[in-house]
Amino acid sequence: QQLQSRRLRQPIVVVLGHVDHGKTTLLDKIRGTAVVKKEPGEMTQEVGASFVPTSVIEKIAEPLKKTFPIKLEIPGLLFIDTPGHELFSNLRRRGGSVADIAILVVDIVEGFQKQTYESLEILRSRKVPFLVAANKIDRIPGWKPIDTYSLLESIKSQRKDVQTQLDNYVYRLVGQLAELGFNADRFDRIRDFTKTVAIVPVSAKTGEGIAELLALLAGLTQNYMKTKLRFAEGPAKGVILEVKELQGLGYTIDVIIYDGILKKNDTIIIGGLNGPIVTKVRSILVPKPLQDIKVVKTDLTQIDEVYAAAGVKIYAPELENALAGSPLFVAENEQQVEEYKKIIQEEIASVKYYNANIAGIVVKADSLGSLEAIVEGLKQKNIPIRLADIGPITKKDITEAELTLQEAKEYGIIAAFRVKPLQGIEIPNSIKLIYSEIIYQLIDDIEKYITEVRE
Ligand code: GDP
Ligand code: MG
Repeated sequence: QQLQSRRLRQPIVVVLGHVDHGKTTLLDKIRGTAVVKKEPGEMTQEVGASFVPTSVIEKIAEPLKKTFPIKLEIPGLLFIDTPGHELFSNLRRRGGSVADIAILVVDIVEGFQKQTYESLEILRSRKVPFLVAANKIDRIPGWKPIDTYSLLESIKSQRKDVQTQLDNYVYRLVGQLAELGFNADRFDRIRDFTKTVAIVPVSAKTGEGIAELLALLAGLTQNYMKTKLRFAEGPAKGVILEVKELQGLGYTIDVIIYDGILKKNDTIIIGGLNGPIVTKVRSILVPKPLQDIKVVKTDLTQIDEVYAAAGVKIYAPELENALAGSPLFVAENEQQVEEYKKIIQEEIASVKYYNANIAGIVVKADSLGSLEAIVEGLKQKNIPIRLADIGPITKKDITEAELTLQEAKEYGIIAAFRVKPLQGIEIPNSIKLIYSEIIYQLIDDIEKYITEVRE
């Protein structure tokens, strides 16, 4: 009993950064390495996430033992599979994120780019600690890849001028972070990790630096987040990452469980398009164990219960209106059902917005997380909002945009994030429909249109 309550859960790790800086490659490398290094039966299967057990981290970090003596108590690390802003926004948790720590991937040669800055803003606003993976060190002129996962080992065999070049690149990142108010340094020169952001030079291609990266992720989360990571023996709490229709089964939700235990037949309360949904878990699904994790995870198998932290697919009735980005709670009695319904209602209300006195744009999005991120982004740019809501574009949205149009032409916009007009709804030519599947693209396009109309 006591041992259970002292047990730590897996920290949840996300990867953010500019396009093409190597997020996907880095995740693939970590997953690939884990598959090679694991013992049979060691790796649990996840949906929307990949689990790297501590035994694997210890094997990879073996060469670091002398420099970084860490005794790991966490069972491993849970990496969210899909990198980037879009899914991260759905990992929401009141005032913060379900993610415990983030890796900000920066191409060491290119340095900070637009989405690097955006990622940092998001991490700051969601209060997620992060470390920087300075990726693509193998592209530094003169770099000779060494067959090791350890950066420090590899550095020893690099030419002096190549080492200096690496340092110069790292200092440039230190400078770019300093401009944003972050104290940063190369990880092996840091005394106090609570005050300094660690920069880990890596190559997602060769694997150099993966040892230090994993050791730091594990060490930092375990040392500084113990209270947050303490496993709670109770009903599950989670967040909906995605809502998906499965052929032959129906609607399912992909959920990250960050606390407690989820069991088959549990009563869950989640957010829905038309208010909270109360339903019963019919099945908890995970991928069938595979040898190669790169094989598409389509073969699912049922389990009876799952412990945090984990990524699972849930099948239950009435999920067709489920809302990605919404919390998931398990209720043990009628009173809890009512309590959680209220909490979820309040949370959805806090993201939605309507003010008939404002001549502002209309925003429609497909999930709670994306709507929240878009509203935050628009506020930062001082773009007024009249209506922000979830779901397809309706007659009401058009009416609201038309009312805005009468007062301020440049704001006669319906901004649609991954939603389309309801069947039979025509958007009049006077209203500008701006559609995107990328949050920052949508905000950019809105800004551009407003400037155009004004000129
Ligand atoms: P993402 O958009 O951030 O997910 O970036 P990707 O992982 O798709 O990588 C973009 C490109 O950079 C691909 O062509 C990768 O092969 C390449 N790449 C990623 N990491 C490295 C690295 O460490 N070294 C080199 N040389 N190329 C890399
Ligand atoms: Mg990618």
